Amino acid sequence: MALDKNWFTEINEKGGTAFSLKTTRVLHDERSPFQHITVYETEQFGNLMVIDGFVMLSERDNFFYHEMLSHPALFTHHSPWRVLIIGGGDCGTLREVLKHQEVAEVWQVEIDERVTRIAEKFFPELCDTNQDPRAHFHFGDGIRWVTEALPDSYDVIIIDSTDPIGPAEGLFTEPFYRQCYRALNHEGIIVQQSESPLLHMDIITAMHKAMKQAGFQTTLTLNFPQCVYPSGWWSATMAGKSTALMTIRESDISKRDFTTRYYNLAIHHAAMAYPAFLEAQLGDQPHHF
Ligand code: SAM
Repeated sequence: MALDKNWFTEINEKGGTAFSLKTTRVLHDERSPFQHITVYETEQFGNLMVIDGFVMLSERDNFFYHEMLSHPALFTHHSPWRVLIIGGGDCGTLREVLKHQEVAEVWQVEIDERVTRIAEKFFPELCDTNQDPRAHFHFGDGIRWVTEALPDSYDVIIIDSTDPIGPAEGLFTEPFYRQCYRALNHEGIIVQQSESPLLHMDIITAMHKAMKQAGFQTTLTLNFPQCVYPSGWWSATMAGKSTALMTIRESDISKRDFTTRYYNLAIHHAAMAYPAFLEAQLGDQPHHF
């Protein structure tokens, strides 16, 4: 059935899928120096940000992704004081990170300032903690930022990027992970959005290999739902320099003093469980040390 012009459709040619949302109007459309950014008002999912034809986030369901990109890593590291977010221009991940009182400083390094300015206007609830004195913003290339960082600068690095094409391509490579390894404290962790376990297993497998080659001892893929992304099922892949990624701060998770809509202790455990086909591809989950 052909859809009329009131539907936004993201076509995933390689995966042979498409996903549509019914829209009511275009709120914003611009070509920044880096990409084509559009914001739609949708009928059921609130505002929707699309970059270069790919869905970035909707108001209704971004909490799955933003919570899973931040809380598992922060509750795995025993003292996540210094956090770096690469990409993440919509500020949804930053907002979740700032919920952790022990975080002393967060740097967000986004290549395209326009994404953040547009998010401030059309996704204000994601940006409502941007004035937090612990939050710092730099608009520039995340690869360059990490390459220039001093050793032992961060406890956790979160890579909240677009797909591995264009400016984000280099964020999925061994040389970049090597720089992250260097910039992290000896118990440091990285976590990166890693696409769909159903459609992009090649990307996930390559990430594990590159992270290990860069020196990380342990790697672990978390899986969770995200209905607006291709296949509706998404993942985040973590790598630890020396930290056992499956040993988590369970009592701190249960006693956390902030609200979440998806993340909790049971979900953290569930996200770490490898379905059989993931286990076949990636091997056993890393064991408790
Ligand atoms: N949740 C989204 C997804 O997976 O579709 C990602 C959202 S966030 C808007 C992604 C951001 O990564 C974009 O704003 C893009 O500008 C930024 N980005 C891409 N490559 C980058 C790089 N090399 N350095 C810093 N930011 C980058």
